[in-house]
Amino acid sequence: MKNSFIVALLILGALQFSFNSYGQQKERIRVIAIFAHPDDADSKMGGTATLLAEMGAAVKFVSLTNGDAGHYAEGGGVLGKRRREEAQRAAKQYGIEEYTVLNNHDGELMPDLNVRLQVIREIRNWKADIVLGLRPNDYHPDHRNAGKAVEDASYMVAVPNVASDVPALKKNPVFLYMQDNFKKPNPFSHDIVVAIDKSIDKKVNGLNEHTSQMYEWLPWIGNAGNIDDVPKDPELRKKWLKEKWVNRQISPEQRKGLEKWYGKEGAANVKFAESFEITEYGAQPSEAEIRRLFPMLQK
Ligand SMILES: [Zn+2]
Repeated sequence: MKNSFIVALLILGALQFSFNSYGQQKERIRVIAIFAHPDDADSKMGGTATLLAEMGAAVKFVSLTNGDAGHYAEGGGVLGKRRREEAQRAAKQYGIEEYTVLNNHDGELMPDLNVRLQVIREIRNWKADIVLGLRPNDYHPDHRNAGKAVEDASYMVAVPNVASDVPALKKNPVFLYMQDNFKKPNPFSHDIVVAIDKSIDKKVNGLNEHTSQMYEWLPWIGNAGNIDDVPKDPELRKKWLKEKWVNRQISPEQRKGLEKWYGKEGAANVKFAESFEITEYGAQPSEAEIRRLFPMLQK
């Protein structure tokens, strides 16, 4: 009798344990990307954001500037408003929850205390598990300074006496850099590589919403294509966008990263991918933890 009572207790304990671990499994993964301009994260991780959102993660994009310098014929508040609206439409295409555009001026972003505190509050309010930023050696000063501001917020997000109006996180999140091609002082490391073939069309649909950038400013300044080549027809220009801006070759280093996460066979036919580098300033995730945070990574 006494034995069966103990057995019943053990069964109850096991049931509760499995319930708890299930409950933990069901907790949403929370992701925040913080960058300089409305369209930065779209280009760098629009496909991954779409996949994460489809898998139930809470994804937020934050542009630290309002993009009010990103045009040859428009500017100021009117352009800022236009770009804020473009960002909202893009967010709908990816299925992410929020796309916040802060009101710092484009081309004038500084990695000062004010911006650092904005970043700390954004990360805390989102209760982020993963924070994505730019590397501080990018070509654009706003990109470099946005990258620095995110680096400066790591660790501090867990310090309660800093920005004490917003509760500190209990632990430092995983901080990742979004991909770039800059080589100095060191090339980007393809630590985590996500195949985005399944979400590439939604990524293009999102970028397509950034009309002021994809079809006006970037081809005018020469970052992508040539302004005279942009087709007028909406479908044709979306096709042009996919070819000019999104269809990038997978480098041997990125292919190696893909093989690590999907296996040789799984990686062989991947056409589109987005890479992430683990920074040294956040939590250092194990391989199992990375697969938990990025559930699309399967061998
Ligand atoms: Zn930018």
